[in-house]
Amino acid sequence: MIELKNVSKKYRNGTHALHDVSLKVNDGEFIYIMGPTGSGKSTLIKLLDGEEVPTSGSVLVSGINVGRLKKSKVYLYRRKIGVVFQDYRLLPEKTVFENVAYALEILDMPDEKIRKRVREVLKLVDLADKSNAKPHELSGGQQQRTAIARAIAKKPTILIADEPTGNLDPDMTNEMIKLLEKINREEKTTLVVVTHNDVMVENHPKRTIRIEAGHIVTDRTPEPKKEETAVEQTEVEEEPVVLETAVATVEEEAYSEGEVS
Ligand code: ADP
Repeated sequence: MIELKNVSKKYRNGTHALHDVSLKVNDGEFIYIMGPTGSGKSTLIKLLDGEEVPTSGSVLVSGINVGRLKKSKVYLYRRKIGVVFQDYRLLPEKTVFENVAYALEILDMPDEKIRKRVREVLKLVDLADKSNAKPHELSGGQQQRTAIARAIAKKPTILIADEPTGNLDPDMTNEMIKLLEKINREEKTTLVVVTHNDVMVENHPKRTIRIEAGHIVTDRTPEPKKEETAVEQTEVEEEPVVLETAVATVEEEAYSEGEVS
């Protein structure tokens, strides 16, 4: 679980990037973080991966107080966190396979285990046939999938993706979000996705936390869609009238909204 308790972050130059932010994210959740430029999204990510420490309050990840970690221990903690950066950060001289393997080599994993896990994650991101390609031989979407494979190879508890659809067209955006959903489902990874993409959020609704000027202004969890609820409960495609009424009532309360700060 991720738990931020009354977290504030003031940088040395006096900028107050986050104000008294409290937030809980359960294991296996998939959340979006939205907000204008400068609102504090990157600061929040940096607090989660141990790059920055809070000025006050605490950041707990799986019970670890991240802000209190000794500098020499931060690298160990980071094994739990996978980050996909906007610019992918692939090693240009290494193949797709080697880029992903590298993330495991630095963990001192035995070679055979590394090869097995790399094959597994490349299959998961649908890049098995590009194992021997170098990054410059890949499309933007394929480079990004390599970066995702590299980030999840070590089986992190949390995967953070910073604007994963920033450079993608609408079709590829759809594929990307489906891939992140698959990782969330199959690898049981908690997903934290920072995005500006309203269309994606609308098409793939999930708990959405909006930050403005360092404050969480809304934290909304959509109810499952009417169709999904009906099919799940009845395993038929037609929705019985009784259920429809029940779902309509739930939909009236479709969003649980909390003013957090
Ligand atoms: P976002 O990711 O939403 O664009 P940031 O977390 O990067 O927002 O920034 C929040 C605020 O903190 C901004 O005013 C930004 O200029 C400031 N800021 C970010 N990083 C630093 C830093 N290292 N030193 C000083 N101010 C910073």
